[in-house]
Amino acid sequence: MNRNTSEDHDDIFDVAVVGAGAAGLSAALFLTRARRRTVIYDGGPVRNSMISKIHEYLGYEGSTPAEFLERGRSEVVSYGGEIRSETVLKIEARPDGLFDVWGSKMKITARAVVLATGLVDVLPMVPGLKEGLGKYVHLCPCFSGYEVRDKPFVAFGLPERLAQLGKFLTAWSSDVTVVSPHEFDSETLTRLDGFGVKTVQDEVTGLVTEGDQLVSIATASGTEVPCEAVFVAAPFKAASELAASLCEVDEAGFAVTDTYGRTSRPGVWAIGNATDQLAHLVHSAASGANIGPWVVDYLLETSLNPKKKE
Ligand SMILES: Cc1cc2nc3c(=O)[nH]c(=O)nc-3n(C[C@H](O)[C@H](O)[C@H](O)COP(=O)(O)OP(=O)(O)OC[C@H]3O[C@@H](n4cnc5c(N)ncnc54)[C@H](O)[C@@H]3O)c2cc1C
Repeated sequence: MNRNTSEDHDDIFDVAVVGAGAAGLSAALFLTRARRRTVIYDGGPVRNSMISKIHEYLGYEGSTPAEFLERGRSEVVSYGGEIRSETVLKIEARPDGLFDVWGSKMKITARAVVLATGLVDVLPMVPGLKEGLGKYVHLCPCFSGYEVRDKPFVAFGLPERLAQLGKFLTAWSSDVTVVSPHEFDSETLTRLDGFGVKTVQDEVTGLVTEGDQLVSIATASGTEVPCEAVFVAAPFKAASELAASLCEVDEAGFAVTDTYGRTSRPGVWAIGNATDQLAHLVHSAASGANIGPWVVDYLLETSLNPKKKE
């Protein structure tokens, strides 16, 4: 028996990992290989579940999200990880330093918690946007710009991110139009013009499609801007309120962490999109591996010096 783990207490896990995407599975792989008793909660679809192919992850180029997850899950299970199809509803920090974790089916206790709950892309209220995701609606050219290269693009959404997005898109197409009701200052307009980006001061109200093809966007003023792909600068929000109940969060509900994924509460880590909104799959997986040694160290230290009951 490995004395440093919780395997001698049936009801206590070393770590509860909440979220079974790239970040959570990667953390779980490290922790199970470090012989920590780990439960992983899979509460539903991952952020990119609607796309047909993963890009920008060396070794997984062209895999489907389902293939990627299946491979990760079987690796974690092969080292003893216990994946539960449950949403975590509540986590309570106990005075003795342990955590009570309420899944939708049952409660467990864990010595440490890893939040890998991801984020939600808050799409503007434009009909058809959600349905077009993964086809002609895109959020980031890093993931799908190459697949629609050289086509006419329209970018819209958060004004503070639009100028940067418009410029960035010119790496993939020379036909980029930024559509926004926002009045950009003259310096921004001159810069966008310098990159060859057109600007239209108007509000996007709809997508015009023919079959499965996007042909233009419709605007509030009644005009149409021809395009075959739209890129949306959408706000992010935390996918779960668990972090807010456990540790310091920012105004959008994301856990505030140090470079090792540590939150303001000892024993709680946050990784992937749950703390870093710009993390791609490869960064999210890396963040899971990154915290692994620190979680193990915490478990070893607290097994030597358990927190006294208050
Ligand atoms: C349209 C689109 C396309 C993308 N394409 C790519 C790409 O090609 N390449 C790339 O590198 N990145 C891509 N991304 C980004 C990628 O999706 C994220 O980087 C990645 O999903 C982040 O991994 P994560 O593990 O942090 O979060 P996720 O993968 O979102 O996993 C979080 C998991 O936690 C679960 N969860 C949340 N709350 C709870 C709870 N309370 N209890 C239990 N489970 C919970 C969620 O259901 C989800 O399964 C794309 C994103 C979008 C939106």
